[in-house]
Amino acid sequence: MKDIMPVNGQFAMPTLGYDNLGDVISKETLGFHYGKHLKAYVDNLNKALPGSGLEGLSLTEVVKKAEGGMFNNAGQVLNHTMYFEQFSNSPKAMSPKLTALLERDFGSVEAFKKEFEQKGATLFGSGWVWLSMDKECKLVITQQRNAENPVTMGLQPLLTFDVWEHAYYLDWQNRRADHLAALWQIVDWAIVEGRLC
Ligand code: MN
Repeated sequence: MKDIMPVNGQFAMPTLGYDNLGDVISKETLGFHYGKHLKAYVDNLNKALPGSGLEGLSLTEVVKKAEGGMFNNAGQVLNHTMYFEQFSNSPKAMSPKLTALLERDFGSVEAFKKEFEQKGATLFGSGWVWLSMDKECKLVITQQRNAENPVTMGLQPLLTFDVWEHAYYLDWQNRRADHLAALWQIVDWAIVEGRLC
């Protein structure tokens, strides 16, 4: 994964290549989720950076070192940047290389997707479900609460679904599992694979 550096001491919003994602994530949801929720996390992080001792570090390093409110905002900037950047209206298919890795570690791509959706659907409260690569290059699925990111556990994060209600409630109301199942339609696997070490 390419780490994100601050420019003039400030982190920027990710640039999106879309303004809606069809029936899966509406323009209205993006307006709130990207335009308001993520914007607030970015602004809060940038306000907290001066004098924190973490100035000039990459976003991943800030997430690894920060605590309290600083960690919450930095974690949510990293989480949402990875989340929004992995989607596309013309997503690239999964390569034979990533397919083989998922088959090796989960039995099949379908079995991986089923476990990923199940772990997202059963995460109680707010958080994220992640696919990561561990230090032995094995693929693992983790449930992370609130602003947590797998980098704090020494994992290399590859793919994430946001299960905070703000990610899906306008479009899907309480149907979190249906929303998670629909997200596969817009995952750009070339972006995901680009995060492999
Ligand atoms: Mn979110």
